[in-house]
Amino acid sequence: MPRRRYQLPKVLQSDEDRMPTDTVCTILVRQSTAGQAERHTHSSEVHPDVLIAQARRMGFERTLVCDDDMGIGAFSTTIEDRPALRRWMYELLPSGESKVVMVSMEDRLFRDEDEIQHNRFIKLVKEYGGWVICGPRVYDFRKQADQDMFRDKCRYAKEYIIHHIKERLHPAIQRSAMAGRYAGGRVPWGYVVDYEPRSETYKYHIVYPPHAPLVHEHIFRYFASLAHPTAIQVARHWSREGLLFPFYETWVEPSIVRYTDRLCERDDQRGGYPLSLRQTNSLLSNVIYLGYRERAGEIALDDSGLPRVCHPPLVDPDLFWYCFDYIYAERPIWAPPRVGPSPRRFIVKQSPHDGKPPGERFLAYGKVRCAKHEQRLSLQNDNGRVRLHCNAGDTWRRGYEAYDCVSPGVNKLEPVICQAFLDHLALDEHDVAELARLLEQRLSQRDMREAALRRQISEATSRYEYALNASLRPENRAIAADLMARAVEAKEEATRSQIQLMELQQRQTISGQAWAMAHQLTRVVERVKATFSEWSRIAQSQVIGLALEDAVVGYVNRYTLGLWMKWCGGRESRERVVMSNGKYIEWTEEDQMMVKEWYERLTWTALLQMFPGRTRTSIEHIAGHLHLDRRGKGPFSDEVPTVCPLIDRPVIDVENSMEKYGFSLDFAPAVLTGQSSRRGPRTVAK
Ligand SMILES: [Zn+2]
Repeated sequence: MPRRRYQLPKVLQSDEDRMPTDTVCTILVRQSTAGQAERHTHSSEVHPDVLIAQARRMGFERTLVCDDDMGIGAFSTTIEDRPALRRWMYELLPSGESKVVMVSMEDRLFRDEDEIQHNRFIKLVKEYGGWVICGPRVYDFRKQADQDMFRDKCRYAKEYIIHHIKERLHPAIQRSAMAGRYAGGRVPWGYVVDYEPRSETYKYHIVYPPHAPLVHEHIFRYFASLAHPTAIQVARHWSREGLLFPFYETWVEPSIVRYTDRLCERDDQRGGYPLSLRQTNSLLSNVIYLGYRERAGEIALDDSGLPRVCHPPLVDPDLFWYCFDYIYAERPIWAPPRVGPSPRRFIVKQSPHDGKPPGERFLAYGKVRCAKHEQRLSLQNDNGRVRLHCNAGDTWRRGYEAYDCVSPGVNKLEPVICQAFLDHLALDEHDVAELARLLEQRLSQRDMREAALRRQISEATSRYEYALNASLRPENRAIAADLMARAVEAKEEATRSQIQLMELQQRQTISGQAWAMAHQLTRVVERVKATFSEWSRIAQSQVIGLALEDAVVGYVNRYTLGLWMKWCGGRESRERVVMSNGKYIEWTEEDQMMVKEWYERLTWTALLQMFPGRTRTSIEHIAGHLHLDRRGKGPFSDEVPTVCPLIDRPVIDVENSMEKYGFSLDFAPAVLTGQSSRRGPRTVAK
């Protein structure tokens, strides 16, 4: 018998088929602020209020808006990566507190690349009898049709991302950026974006006159003028001088203004944007100021493989790379190679004592390390005398170990450093030739081509080594011949590049202009030598800071410090500094016992023999501590007691911590025994 043509509609059999409006409706939103929803009117995202109103209409009395998934994409993330969704699935849904989740669209939930996440979601929601509302659609996953529809929607969202965004839009934006155009995003200070008259879509960076000089003068040039440049000092300079980037003029594209307003702090009272520390570092290393265009780690290159100048540069390359080297240890591969060693970066601490910058208090601040701990010495004010101090041997932290470390006065070291600097400040013929060669390189941009060749050589060499190693591995036996051929190819390429490089270097002749500039520099050097002592301390410290690459100070013996200095360019100097006060040596208990017993009974000759390495002052000092008094005592014996266990002890001295820096003991005068430092050399009292 045929079945009925039209079946009766299914009757609602139980409460299970009705949406559980008596539970909480969890609303997941991604763009929660009203401002965002207003600005992004083209976005499919709905304002949370709209969703709340919809839930009310559907009969929910209680709603819960969760926006903690904001900023976490639905593409290639798991359920566990997204706290709000996780909470609903693993807490609210199983407990029955909220059986319904609401989003504006399916793709807000899943754009899952592998289609695993949305299937897990369907399974779990079905198990607990949950409901999902996506915009106008209501899904009950106990129905197969709803499951399929949800799956299709998620799959479509995924494919949209893959095909449209990832494969078309992103590469298109990147291509456009690599052609030198503006491709959206933050416009750095000093520039704005304008349309080229030729084309409506061709946007590019143009210099913005109210901001450009601030970037050049008060960021780059100020940074470069510091003895020890740090971004924080630039930020301090801005707040000290009350500088800010004035608000944009009305003709500037509104999108730039909005972008800046959102990302930067506004100072409405003074009418501008203050510079934040965070911005300073990125600004100082942004190649956009050279006119280059960089996006997603890629730089726009021209046909010859050099960075392409896409808009007017703001900063000259020498100044830019000088600053860059202070911020990053390595330059990018397309940058001109660095001449000379990388500058050292360090943290400048504000002095707690006199407020003067440390460079003014000590000319080589931040450059000198202690030989024992290899740690940079800081400044310490010792009753008005500034001395260098090693924190590694701090008295408070390490007890008497502090005495192990050097603590020379600034006035002792500075003349030695300045003299060594001036001694090295001489240009011989070889130096002038080298200078001329460097100047020529800079004038002709040859170094870029040279760098490209060097890079080719190193790449080919590493390819050669890799192929060679791989061909020797037993598992590659089948393709060994192929690998070998590849190795030979790489080797040939390296040789070719090598020959080109040599040709390039030979072809190089130094122009008259470069020679003239080099000779001019020798005259500058003469003037520096003649006038250096009259310079201001700040200027001196800037020059020393540039010239001195590294310095180490440590004891050679008790009375002599060794100072090793390495200058930029590789020269070294070794100087000794004789101290009036020897290194303090502790009085042991045994020593003190001997002082107690013999101080009031022996002549000074005998006492000094008894305590080798100690001065009369130091013996008097410890005797005072022990409340001993020689006055009115006597007669004194000249005989050193034979019971004295100290006499055979080797002369107290300190370890030569400067040995590894090339200081031998005979470099320093012998230990000055029996001399009182404070009163100068004296004859031993009879
Ligand atoms: Zn130390």
